[in-house]
Amino acid sequence: MRCMTWMQPLHAEQTIDTMTETPAPYRVTPNADYHADYAPAAPPAQLPRAPLRLSCVVPAHNEEANLEDFVRALAQAAGRLTPEFEIIIVNDGSRDATHAVALRLAQDLPVRYLALSRNFGKEAALTAGLAHARGSAVLLIDADFQHPLELLPEMHALWLAGYDMVYGVIVDRGFESGTKRVGTGLFYRLINTGKQVKVPPNAGDFRWMDRRVADALNALPERNRFMKGLYAWVGFKAAALPFVPHDRAGGQTSFSMRRLGSLALLGLTSFTTLPLRVWSVVGSLVALLALVYGAWITLDTILHGTDLQGWPTLAAGIMLFSGVQLMSIGILGEYIGRIYEEVKRRPTYLVARDEDNSPWRDS
Ligand code: UDP
Ligand code: MG
Repeated sequence: MRCMTWMQPLHAEQTIDTMTETPAPYRVTPNADYHADYAPAAPPAQLPRAPLRLSCVVPAHNEEANLEDFVRALAQAAGRLTPEFEIIIVNDGSRDATHAVALRLAQDLPVRYLALSRNFGKEAALTAGLAHARGSAVLLIDADFQHPLELLPEMHALWLAGYDMVYGVIVDRGFESGTKRVGTGLFYRLINTGKQVKVPPNAGDFRWMDRRVADALNALPERNRFMKGLYAWVGFKAAALPFVPHDRAGGQTSFSMRRLGSLALLGLTSFTTLPLRVWSVVGSLVALLALVYGAWITLDTILHGTDLQGWPTLAAGIMLFSGVQLMSIGILGEYIGRIYEEVKRRPTYLVARDEDNSPWRDS
């Protein structure tokens, strides 16, 4: 298989027998490769699967340059897998002509067009798309051609073979800046310090999931939705599909470093309490150090009669530790802020317009 041949699977003999039932050229080896650590120990789905009805969810924020071409290309790619598909375009508060383009597309393609009432962010847009998807499988894909449509048959084949979730893993982040790569690495190290739920590094929102997974995600009650974490949290049998993202076809990325930073903060506060624990450890260490230092000063004075000195030490100490305390309060505040947002129970998104031209509109 094209995408996996470059990477030697650990258990080549595990090629799935059921694959003989799937379209001929795709022979799939399970994700016994470098992502095996992140595969939840879940049983495969019951086979054979019901016929594929595919819902494709496309979040779009200022995508006037790409949306028309992309949705048409997606319709062709999906049509090659099954005649039964719908495309859900979620317009996430675009300020350009995305709305007009999407309305036009909804007239001649099996499109369900959801326009959110403002920009709620990609996580909310995906949540909206998932909540409205009616297929037996759901594909999440960006509108900017970065996620290769050529991988759809392979995702389909893995789904047919019993995987409930097939996710794309970016294998080449070479196109990104050094800072972004270091930041991403650090983020995954931090978020995966917990034992139970491991978020696979470099796995994005390019995913194919079974109805069961979509239902599980829809049932999660939280408003702060860090999707990459939630996909990992729900579990189910998952396969990683390595891919090299294409360049963005047109327009610009919506994710500045600042926005990525706040997404990372959302992820960390939603999926690990490590930052809270760190301060207990730091606090204990500092207290211990202070005790030892105090004892040493006392002994030094008693034994050698040294005069009490050290205003500079005192000043530096006070400044350092007030800084440490403020930092810890800040981190505590992040968590409290999340709790506050959750208890308000505001909806994750609001739909301002729903134009349903999906073949399943009455179901
Ligand atoms: N997107 C969205 N809401 C936002 C930001 C982005 O729906 O607030 C969509 C965007 O239209 C695209 C996908 O999310 O389809 C990925 O965004 P982008 O390409 O800007 O991010 P990058 O690929 O650079 O991480
Ligand atoms: Mg993109």
